[in-house]
Amino acid sequence: MKAIRVSEYGGPAVLRLEEVPAPQPGPGQVLVRNHAVGVNPVDTYLRSNTDNRGPKLPYTPGSDSAGVVEAVGTGVTAVKAGERVYVGGTLSGAYAELALCDQGQVHPLPANVSFAQGAALNVPYATAYHALFNRGHGQAGETVLVHGASGGVGIGAVQLARARGLTVIGTAGTERGRRLVLAEGAHHVLDHGAPGYLDELMKLTGGQGVDVALEMLANVNLQKDLGIVAMRGRIVVIGNRGMVEINARLAMNRDATILGMALYHATPAQLAGIHAALVEGLRNGTLRPVIGQELPLGQAPRAHEAVMAPGHHGKIVLVP
Ligand code: NAP
Repeated sequence: MKAIRVSEYGGPAVLRLEEVPAPQPGPGQVLVRNHAVGVNPVDTYLRSNTDNRGPKLPYTPGSDSAGVVEAVGTGVTAVKAGERVYVGGTLSGAYAELALCDQGQVHPLPANVSFAQGAALNVPYATAYHALFNRGHGQAGETVLVHGASGGVGIGAVQLARARGLTVIGTAGTERGRRLVLAEGAHHVLDHGAPGYLDELMKLTGGQGVDVALEMLANVNLQKDLGIVAMRGRIVVIGNRGMVEINARLAMNRDATILGMALYHATPAQLAGIHAALVEGLRNGTLRPVIGQELPLGQAPRAHEAVMAPGHHGKIVLVP
């Protein structure tokens, strides 16, 4: 089968399309024929070995895909060959024609959801759910700021929060992105590149601030978030790409909480709950992943450049 392989850490050019042996499912394992593969920012950090987190070389990148079950190993009861599924984590890497998974890593993909949308689910939507509800404890009737709402996690957070009954304020850096954020359910949208945009947020909340802030770029925004959270507000750090200086007095003044989160720390029970909620949200149409760009698998280097560029408009997926 064809797969993207990484044999040395480095820039996007180290992603090479190669022919590799097709994996076979062992006991409790599922083999999925990928129709679409999700590209996430974390794939680029692992490729370049940021913070020494790179996988053992050589490896096939990616954790997210959607397709059809090709074969199952002994003891697999949850799915059978021919069923549509989305994949949340793999044993063999997702940037490939076939992905080998543990049976707990595959979830049903309802018929009303495309394979490209299925590939946009795992990291973005599971992260959005975990940040909003398990870490941030967002409640119906509260107000949430999705600080960076035009990308994969942000669109998921907007849809999830709106469906749960929160008032949603999203931000995006382009006019196109802001239109998308409103179309996907935000009550209000702001430009995170515009001077004074958080003054506008304070006006929108009647001077109270937001109960929850989901932060996609904490190194730029954490100090600003501390100035716009309501009393007992929760700031969930989802994304961060550098250092930031904060005035902790702002947290004291509001009894505010700064919460870190990484999806890979979610417990098996939390993950089971998250995916049960996502599958139902797909079925009832409240969750509608937005695809910005589809590229052939061999263009993984271009996809890695695009996912780190500004001006987001939904997800980038690769098509094997
Ligand atoms: P993405 O699709 O690349 O989207 C990035 C988002 O950040 C876009 O909405 C972008 O908006 C926005 N952004 C750019 N400049 C910003 C600013 N100054 N203030 C606020 N937002 C800004 O990425 P993603 O998949 O949504 O992931 C978002 C971040 O979370 C990434 O850093 C990723 O690594 C991280 N993440 C963490 C976890 C975890 O477990 N902690 C899981 C998934 C993702 P414009 O392009 O419109 O400016």
